[in-house]
Formats: sequence, structure tokens, C-alpha cells
Amino acid sequence: MKAVVYKGPRNVAVEDVPNPRIEAGTDCILKITSSGICGSDLHMYEGRATVDPGLVFGHEPMGVVEEVGEDVALIKKGDRVVVPFNVSCGFCFNCSRGFPNACLTMNPKQAGAAYGYVNMGPYRGGQAEFLRVPYADYNCLKLPGTAGDQREDDFVLLSDVFPTAFHSTVLANVQAGSTVAIFGAGPIGLLAALSSVLKGASEVYVVDMIPERLDKAKQVGAFAIDSTKGDPVEQIIEMRKSNKILQQALRPGEEKMIGVMCGIDAVGYQATDLDQPEHERSNVVIDDLIRVVNPTGHIGVIGVYLPMDPGGIDPLAKRGEFPLWFGKLWEKGITLGTGQAPVKNYNVFLRDLIMTGRVKPSFIVSKHASLDDAPDAYERFDKRESGYTKVILKPEKAYI
Ligand code: NAD
Ligand code: ZN
Repeated sequence: MKAVVYKGPRNVAVEDVPNPRIEAGTDCILKITSSGICGSDLHMYEGRATVDPGLVFGHEPMGVVEEVGEDVALIKKGDRVVVPFNVSCGFCFNCSRGFPNACLTMNPKQAGAAYGYVNMGPYRGGQAEFLRVPYADYNCLKLPGTAGDQREDDFVLLSDVFPTAFHSTVLANVQAGSTVAIFGAGPIGLLAALSSVLKGASEVYVVDMIPERLDKAKQVGAFAIDSTKGDPVEQIIEMRKSNKILQQALRPGEEKMIGVMCGIDAVGYQATDLDQPEHERSNVVIDDLIRVVNPTGHIGVIGVYLPMDPGGIDPLAKRGEFPLWFGKLWEKGITLGTGQAPVKNYNVFLRDLIMTGRVKPSFIVSKHASLDDAPDAYERFDKRESGYTKVILKPEKAYI
């Protein structure tokens, strides 16, 4: 079968690799109809993670069940399913407590496994014609409709970005009436804005420097903060200060709460230094969040920070160490949540919201490409080119 294979920094190729086969009775084989390229893939693509050449990329798979192992009971050939990027067993200490993102049995090296990702276990990725899915009954989420229909782009986002973005709002404690600042208007930031609005947040601010992405943030009802126009933290605080209705309602001392209650980092360790946009500064987003989040607030760091980064800008960054304004975080009593998202905790509910027409996360999808065009799509997405906010690969040309 054809698959997207990592060859080295900024170099992926579409190559023939052996077809996956059933290795355990609980496996199934999926024929992929849609497969997302993720901002997380770019960390590896850019050579900013310790990836061995030969890895098949792709952790956002959706398709039709082609074959099931003899112990699979609930899923059958022909079912249309989407699969979480986390590979998990469902029965270990962590899975059974609701942390499939930290599954203890699927990755011999550490807690947590994923398809096609560095250090996340021996699983090939889903940017390919077929994928082996372990524990198929547990991992496959059944979907209505038929492959390639009008909900295909919505459903494929259930593999990662929509549940991940929703999880960031859980880490940041977003509730009805909350005030929220989101850094990054990539797929995760945009869907974190959608999720915040869905939960009833009163004000949502989204910071980025790419106009096309900021426009999409406005589409879901967020305030767009263009970081090229000055310090985004000051811009958010100024907007709140100039809100006359808000000012009229303040009680004594509440001017100390002029920031927001919930902050989300949807950028990660490759953040742009806003003072020198051609440079990177890994700690800039978390520090900005520490500045803008009010005392007793919450920060959700859904953007990735890796423990080793060969391309890190200094010796500390190479060791995955990031200097943070920790004293301020502590003084404000802010809670910080991090880590891989437990997709399975949310995907069924988000699927139902899609099915009933309450949400349409596919507003972020800007490009379909064939598997053969993956190298070009990676190059353009990596440059954050216009029209490349979210790329979905379609191994079967009929679905493009
Ligand atoms: P993306 O690269 O498409 O988007 C990142 C956005 O951040 C870009 O639009 C960029 O312009 C903006 N940005 C860069 N520096 C900034 C700064 N200083 N301030 C504000 N905005 C800035 O990526 P994505 O697909 O949206 O993913 C976002 C992050 O989430 C990545 O780090 C990705 O690896 C991570 N992620 C985490 C999980 C998880 O389970 N925790 C899952 C999926 C993705
Ligand atoms: Zn992803």
C-alpha cells in the first residue's frame, strides 16, 4: 500500500510499504477514507523531534472497516468509523480511570501511545491506504452515513483536533460565563474557540498573526487579537478596560481581575517571538498567559512541549527545559493543566453534536489532497500558506 513516510527534516515521500495485517484477535484493519495532517506532525517534519526516518506519519484516521480479528465483537466489516489518535487498551489502571492518553499497556517505553508519532509506540500512522487498529471494539467510534458524504470532514476531526481542543477548555476550566484567552488560531486554537462558545463563555479572545486564521476566529464569535499590532496581553486588557458596561459593573478591587479567567496555549514550544517574528521563543505563550490570566484562574497547555528537541534554540530548549515566570503563576494561584488529550472521553459527545447539526467543526478544513500530493501539502502547511489551515488527505481520489 501507499503511505507517507518520513525521510528526514522537511522531507516526506509517498512510498510502497507492506499492508498492515491482523496481529491480534482484537485488531481491525481500516481502509482509510480521510486522514488529517496535524500541527503536531510539523514538529516531526521540521526535524524538531528525535524521529527515525522510515516512520509512517498520521494520527488522525477515519475510514471503513476492511477486516476484523476473531475476537472483535462490536465492530464489523463495512462499518464507518473514526479512531482516536491515542492508542489505548481500555483496561489498564489509567484507561479505566478515564486517562486513555496515558495508557500503560500499549507503549513499552512510557505511558501513552499514538499512531505514527515519535516515542509513542510501534504503531504505523494513518496517512496511508490502510491502518491496523488495536482493540478495535474500544478504539473505533461508529459513525452514521456513508464514506465521503457531507459530514466526512466534520467526523475526521473527531480523531484529534476537535476533542483535543475541547479538552483544552476542560484544562482551562471554561464554563458558562467564562472569559477566555486562546493563543494560536491553528486548528486547535480555532476549535478551542468554538468549544468555548459552545460551553457558553461570555468573552473569547484568539491571538495569532495570520489574518486568514484570525478571520476564522471571528466566524465563531471570538474577538481576534492580531499580535503584529502590539503586545496581545495589553490588547486584551485594553479591550476589557474600554468595555463601559463591564466597567459599570465592577465592585471594589475587581480591577485586579481585568484579565481573563481561562487561558489556552494552542501554540506549543515552537512559538514565534512576537518581538522578533523571525525568531522562536518557546516560553512566550505560557508567560503571556501567566500575565493575562487572573488570580485563581486556569491555564490549559494543549500545545506540545517535547522533552528533547535537537533543533532547540539554546542548550536549555534542547533538553526540553523552558524558563517560565513561575513565581507570578504561583503568586496568582493559577492552575496549569498539560498533556496529550484523552480523545475518547469526548469524541462520542462531539460526534452527537455534529450529527444533530449543533456544530460544524469542518469550517477549519481548507484543503483536500491525494496521498500522492502529501509532500507538497506538508511543505505548504509548514509555511502556514494561505488555504492550508487544515489539510485532509484522501487516499482514494474519489473522495477528494
Ligand atoms: P498550527 O501550527 O497550525 O497552529 C499554531 C498557530 O500558532 C499558528 O497559526 C501560529 O501562527 C500561531 N502562533 C505562533 N506563535 C504564536 C504566538 N507567540 N502567539 C500566538 N500565536 C502564535 O498547529 P495546530 O494544529 O493548531 O496545533 C497547535 C498545537 O497543539 C501544536 O503544538 C500541536 O502539536 C498541539 N497539539 C496537541 C495535542 C495534545 O493532545 N496535547 C493534540 C494535537 C495538537
Ligand atoms: Zn493531530
